[in-house]
Amino acid sequence: MMSTTTMAKASILAPSRQHFGSRVFDELGMERDPDNLYLQTIDAVLHAAEVLELPHHVQLILAQPKNEIMVHFPVLMDDGEYRLFKGYRVQHNNALGPYKGGLRYHPHVSLDDVKSLACLMTMKCSLVRIPYGGGKGGIKCDPRSLSTDELRRVTRRFVSAIAPQIGPDYDIPAPDVGTNAQVMAWFADTYMNITGGRDAHAVVTGKPVDFGGSLGREKATGQGVIDVLAELLPEVGLTIKGASASILGYGNVGSWAGKLWAERGGKVTAVYDHTGGVYNAQGLDTLALDEHVKKHGGVGGFEKEGRAQAISADEFYRVKVDVFIPAALEQMINTERANQLDCKVVAEAANAPTTPAGERILLERGVEILPAILCSAGGVTVSYFEWVQNKTHVTWDIERVDEELNRHMVLAARRTQLARHRFGVDMRTAAYIAALEQIGKVYALRGIFP
Ligand code: GLU
Repeated sequence: MMSTTTMAKASILAPSRQHFGSRVFDELGMERDPDNLYLQTIDAVLHAAEVLELPHHVQLILAQPKNEIMVHFPVLMDDGEYRLFKGYRVQHNNALGPYKGGLRYHPHVSLDDVKSLACLMTMKCSLVRIPYGGGKGGIKCDPRSLSTDELRRVTRRFVSAIAPQIGPDYDIPAPDVGTNAQVMAWFADTYMNITGGRDAHAVVTGKPVDFGGSLGREKATGQGVIDVLAELLPEVGLTIKGASASILGYGNVGSWAGKLWAERGGKVTAVYDHTGGVYNAQGLDTLALDEHVKKHGGVGGFEKEGRAQAISADEFYRVKVDVFIPAALEQMINTERANQLDCKVVAEAANAPTTPAGERILLERGVEILPAILCSAGGVTVSYFEWVQNKTHVTWDIERVDEELNRHMVLAARRTQLARHRFGVDMRTAAYIAALEQIGKVYALRGIFP
């Protein structure tokens, strides 16, 4: 087993996360903009590809998504006016199987961000060895400001706009930030009405359990984070039992990670979201906090229930903990936040939460970063189980889902550790290498058509 000192040394081998050294950037005429999420993602993937010596043509293929679909569609609002919405579906790669990835409803959804998230899905699915490629989509909107009827109409119009370009064997969306099982139910229903195909509801995963969803899908991403931590924390001399954690974001992923962390004997001492922050040195009551969030839309105000004190963003980031779990949006751990953090491990439950500059600081300080394509892969893994159940007309019990999820997460964690030892790189590069190795093998077997 690796000691903490060896781990810190391994991290220092590749402290800089921004290389932009690949000639792929020149060949494709891509800029080297260090602040663009897509270019940051591709840079990190290409760096890992070079360490792995992945054939150049595969690097070129992976540097751009296969398809970028952008649609505009009108929706009747409750006030009788029509509003035009912008939607995206980016299909990054399908060498390993159908495109797979969530749908995000958020005011800041943009093409470059969706492209980046689609590429991360390709890496994620390959790392956990499920037979999918990567995709991502979204609608630029604020779902909190829409009524239930408006949300349903927006979803149905979006499905009708992209229906010819998706399908249960071609591209399978799922929930992401701002969407949930209900949105997936509307999605599936609309698609079934449009196409009428057999098993057409398998076009999306993350559906309600009563309508083709899988047991355990809702908690899956949070549970995957905890499975990875249970496997890897002993490497830095920690166990979940008795360890402390702080969580950024208490939506689906953050709240499940928090509840399951506490269930295994860990303490969640601080949580922060868009409504405020709360702290309890003895550990927050994660179940009560979850109830509060469901009722009030965020953690803010939980201190009034007498079991926590309110803290500011700066105080939250400075809380000394063993594990920091970012479970909110991308790019939140920048230079300033990385300097404030006082933790041993960052477990990335959100997609791309750490900027390259923030990551450099954390690595230099010897903080272990467990990358997003590993930590956050639990959701898509159980999505795969849902799809398998839909296609074979069976239902799995929760024990089977939990056990299979754990097996996939533990193997992915070990695969990442192995790549780290073999190549002497940081965990993120190692996770990309472990993912790219599989993609490289499949391209070698399939060749390039014609
Ligand atoms: N949106 C989730 C993710 O980023 C889940 C995707 C899925 O289940 O397909 O991993």
